[in-house]
Amino acid sequence: MTEEITMTPYNPQSAVAEQFISHAEVVATLDYAAAHSDDRKLIADILQQASEGRGLTHRQAAVLMECRDSETLESIFALARKIKERIYGNRIVMFAPLYLSNHCINGCTYCPYHATNRTIARRKLTQEQIAAEVIALQDMGHKRLALEAGEHPTLAPIDYILDSIETIYSIRHRNGAIRRVNVNIAATTVENYRRLHDAGIGTYILFEETYNREVYNRLHPSGPKSDWAYHTEAMDRAMEGGIDDVGIGALFGLSDYRYDLVGLLMHAEHLEARFGVGPHTISVPRIRPADDIDLTAFPNAVTDDVFRRIVAILRIAVPYTGMIISTRESEQSRKAVLDIGVSQISGGSKTTVGGYCDSNDSEGSEQFDISDHRTLDQIVSWLLELGYVPSFCTACYREGRTGDRFMSLAKSGAIANCCTPNALMTLTEYLCDYGSDSSRSAAKEIITTEIEKIPSVKVREIVKQRIERIVAGERDFRF
Ligand code: SF4
Ligand code: SF4
Repeated sequence: MTEEITMTPYNPQSAVAEQFISHAEVVATLDYAAAHSDDRKLIADILQQASEGRGLTHRQAAVLMECRDSETLESIFALARKIKERIYGNRIVMFAPLYLSNHCINGCTYCPYHATNRTIARRKLTQEQIAAEVIALQDMGHKRLALEAGEHPTLAPIDYILDSIETIYSIRHRNGAIRRVNVNIAATTVENYRRLHDAGIGTYILFEETYNREVYNRLHPSGPKSDWAYHTEAMDRAMEGGIDDVGIGALFGLSDYRYDLVGLLMHAEHLEARFGVGPHTISVPRIRPADDIDLTAFPNAVTDDVFRRIVAILRIAVPYTGMIISTRESEQSRKAVLDIGVSQISGGSKTTVGGYCDSNDSEGSEQFDISDHRTLDQIVSWLLELGYVPSFCTACYREGRTGDRFMSLAKSGAIANCCTPNALMTLTEYLCDYGSDSSRSAAKEIITTEIEKIPSVKVREIVKQRIERIVAGERDFRF
């Protein structure tokens, strides 16, 4: 580390990346955690604080991450389960990624879209091809998309992204509609974030990849993304541009996971300290095999056990935030984190450009290998059989529940009064329009049981009536 990186003082309220992700503070935190991993009194106090739903600081979370004794680990998992149940119940929100273009001018060494990869097929969808993708996604039953594109000033400029969002929202095929478009594009200017906000996006998502600046610099040798500070301050600019739901994440395995866990939490604390609103979501991808990527260059790959601990600790440290896992993970490893933290999963995903529609010729353009190849309906049936309620809800941002308005409802747990009814109504829509015999029969009992669990008699009655109306053909009710 250079002296400049090492010595920068920590200030979570600062707008300067070196100060809110201070390397000195991360190192001091990891030292503190190592020194206190056997401190039973401290650990008990931390768990007590977490059990009250008050979240944890990055230092407290780092201490838990260091704990190895089975009793403490069991307490952490039990608590994560309890908090997940209290805030999210058994709902799992479904989404799909939509890749628009894999042209990219950056040099990220872990991503096959990097500019010097000559073997990958480069593609960019036209608006007509995007419309075809959206119809294919609607025909699967999706209502919520995460839009993905590499960074390219001429082939994928902001105007192309905005046109694409307009196309996506405009398509109505049978009963289909994409009701929420989250956007995962490169760090950009306040002005461009304002335009994205005005286009009606849901969450702006950008992964830090790794919070360790030295490793970051090594993994990003070229392109605009090589500017660590500009990348790290992106969420600040997004919020200045009016986007108040932002999603952060780290690509676990690029660097030491302890460093990235602490960095993620410092980032969340910074957004809360500076804007009064923490991250809407936290994503937990892990490095996966892909074209032209040598996995032996990433010795920090995270095991399943460590991954599970990361998810549980994030759940109790930031109880109000949604947690996302993609089809990079296998059925087995997704199952292992559903009960302890994850609240959103993708289903039936394609990580190729144009992969949802056969005529879009997507071969050879994927960003990473998928581990979970099941269809959306198979995943819906699987979730139902495990006792979860797959939800296609997109209500919050359409009802203006974003930013601090959303956070106050999420922190108090009051958001559950909307989530369960919306989950049951959107699941019924899905079953009517796209469900197979298997998902329909798996859902029957769970819908009846979940309706009876709704605490308010009035809301319960409204949900029953609306479900009848959905079965009769009406659509898009929401709380
Ligand atoms: Fe481009 Fe993003 Fe891949 Fe980096 S991670 S090469 S910015 S698409
Ligand atoms: Fe998400 Fe809001 Fe729907 Fe709950 S009501 S599932 S928080 S969009």
